[in-house]
Amino acid sequence: MIVNKDFPYSFDETVCKQCKASCCKGEGYVFLSKDDINNISSFLDLDVGQFVELYTRKVMYGKKISLANLKIKGELRCVFLDEFNRCEIYEMRPKQCRKFPFWKSLKDKNVEQLVKLCPGIIIS
Ligand code: SF4
Repeated sequence: MIVNKDFPYSFDETVCKQCKASCCKGEGYVFLSKDDINNISSFLDLDVGQFVELYTRKVMYGKKISLANLKIKGELRCVFLDEFNRCEIYEMRPKQCRKFPFWKSLKDKNVEQLVKLCPGIIIS
């Protein structure tokens, strides 16, 4: 169980194994830092240019880089989410993914609504 004193909930990572990865689907961005790009490129044994071309997209008027997503059967999915709803780069997933669900943007959201999106969120 991960507890963050600044949030009104905790996070049970073990629930991820049974979940359908709703946090990795739909509209939205997975922003990448330089460290994320370097780490994931090495993990995939690609050079940075190849990784950026194959797996990312420029967003926010070209100011930021996000992981790409794919539309499969009408559903948007992170490019690294496999057919079994598992992250293919889990060991080296971006910082933004590691920090979920303790995002500033979620801090003031209705917790009951968040629990519907993510069953790993446990109301404190
Ligand atoms: S990198 Fe992995 S954990 Fe992050 S959104 Fe993509 S599939 Fe999900």
